[in-house]
Amino acid sequence: MLNSIASLKKANVITKGSDDSTLRIMKHIRRAGALSRVELAQATGMAKGSITEIVGRLVVQGLLEEHISLPSGRGRPRVSLRIIEDAAYVVGLSPAGNDTLSADIIDLNGNRLFSSQYGIGGLDVATFADHAVAAIESAIVQSGIERERIRHAGIILPGQVDRNAGVILWLPHSGWHPPAAVGPHIGQAIGIPVTIDNRATVVARAEHWFGLGDWLDDFTCIALLERGMGGARYRNGHLQTGVNGSNSEIAHVKVAFEQGRPCFCGASGCLGAYASVGGIIRQWLRGGGEAEAPIGSRDFSALVDLARSGDGVALALFRSAGRALGTAIASHINEADPGHVLIVAAEPELEAMIAPAFHEAVGEHMLTTLVDKTHIEFRTIAEGDFWKGAASLALEQLYRQL
Ligand SMILES: [Zn+2]
Repeated sequence: MLNSIASLKKANVITKGSDDSTLRIMKHIRRAGALSRVELAQATGMAKGSITEIVGRLVVQGLLEEHISLPSGRGRPRVSLRIIEDAAYVVGLSPAGNDTLSADIIDLNGNRLFSSQYGIGGLDVATFADHAVAAIESAIVQSGIERERIRHAGIILPGQVDRNAGVILWLPHSGWHPPAAVGPHIGQAIGIPVTIDNRATVVARAEHWFGLGDWLDDFTCIALLERGMGGARYRNGHLQTGVNGSNSEIAHVKVAFEQGRPCFCGASGCLGAYASVGGIIRQWLRGGGEAEAPIGSRDFSALVDLARSGDGVALALFRSAGRALGTAIASHINEADPGHVLIVAAEPELEAMIAPAFHEAVGEHMLTTLVDKTHIEFRTIAEGDFWKGAASLALEQLYRQL
């Protein structure tokens, strides 16, 4: 089903090193709702000449409109720029559990116009591309939106990816496998450029594009997902990606050096083996002499109940999780000075369970010079984070290429 990476690599690959001026202008207008050219210059720091040129092009293309309002007294009319919402669309695809894909059609301003669910009977690297094509095709037909007006597709996966090349490197249940160039393959099949990324990253994108905080341009996001975990960092409004297209794989930062817990990556002592829900349950099974049992055979909420009843084993597992996560995040703060750290958890109970040990470890390990300058907060992942993240992934590429 999948062609070789070499034959597909040229198609639909992100343009590296492209000028982000159009992306910056569109993001600022979208965030504010309407901005004048002068306000755009202040917000972006770009030269007025560059803004006039780019805005002029976007108006001619029918993507921005000028809104003229007359002052109540004397003075010049105010000309503000707004995005024409129905000028173009994107499609977002994200897993909703292991058996379903959610396909969403989003307008140029980030409003969700259509959503459909597509059953797949399990996420598997061998069948994912065909399922993704079918889910997207079905959503386009059902939505009634003309295909040629859908300009980009953002696809979220729960594994490890090379975002630049659109390649899946690892998927849960499929494990390590030869790199699979699903992004270019899907793009060729549907005739729409495709960008793929992993779920931890899109939670950060959802916060950056749809969040209400005033620190959206600079923060680190740690996502504690249903089983695994991941990270992402925004700096000056840009999501940081490695030179090989790799996102933050903070799950494999080492928090133990001798006799550390084994990790699925093949190493030991990885943060994910201590602080992720999958790592906590795996250790619980090991302690009960069931090292080879599937993680799904134990229920996370049962472990929470045990801890609340004072069970020593359960309490120790959550204490280890909190200490490991606090140590890793303090190390990250010391190294990168992110200013804000947002920890989002799929399991609502996880924060309460690990919080005391987490804050204890952060207090021990964070540089005192950064304590008053660094804000750390927890929240639970919302259902909307995934479609918003997929929408942001697609809009980010579309805005850049306008
Ligand atoms: Zn690992």
